[in-house]
Amino acid sequence: MEVSDLTAWVQEFARLVALERDELTALDSAIGDGDHGFNMDRGLSAAVAALEASPPESPSALFKTVGMTMISKVGGASGPLYGTAFLRMAASAGSPVDAAGFAQVLHAALEGVVARGKASVGDKTMVDALTPAVEAFDAALASGGDPFQAAADAAEKGREATIPLVARKGRASYLGERSAGHPDPGATSVTLLMRAAATTLG
Ligand code: ADP
Ligand code: MG
Ligand code: MG
Repeated sequence: MEVSDLTAWVQEFARLVALERDELTALDSAIGDGDHGFNMDRGLSAAVAALEASPPESPSALFKTVGMTMISKVGGASGPLYGTAFLRMAASAGSPVDAAGFAQVLHAALEGVVARGKASVGDKTMVDALTPAVEAFDAALASGGDPFQAAADAAEKGREATIPLVARKGRASYLGERSAGHPDPGATSVTLLMRAAATTLG
């Protein structure tokens, strides 16, 4: 994967988020403050614009631009969390990025989110979709399957598994038991990230 392929991934992620913006906002209205779709769309639109204004010369530079933009443009929890994920990806990406290198990039993203937000699987956050996606990518890579599709499918399953959970991190945790019965918005945006990878990189 060259920087152009990875740019297409970010662009597709931005496109899916824009398409699902109202849905993400509705999910966040149920258990948060109703801005996740707005936050993600604002950050990713700005990131796509920044990439167009000055096209990055390496995967690392690409991820750095996305990370810095998410941190500077998004006020909510998701800005620093996605921002940290992309900055860690920037630090771990070689050039070009092969499938094994992409696995490392995904691990770095997850480590960044966990370092920043201190959430574990089961806390009803984006970690619940990202963790199984990273694990499924590794497993499919080792067994000769399609790691991108496996990761996308696993993220979706992880997102569905957040529905019955009671949130233990972020704004949704203020609701206590009332947060159960709804999917987590951040886990939902992570499924879009992984779906975009499956269609552009797989
Ligand atoms: P805010 O909650 O500040 O309005 P967003 O609505 O954009 O920010 O993002 C909410 C999402 O952020 C949640 O659905 C959850 O997935 C994620 N999130 C919140 N806190 C954490 C955390 N500590 N660790 C990981 N993810 C978190
Ligand atoms: Mg919110
Ligand atoms: Mg908010």
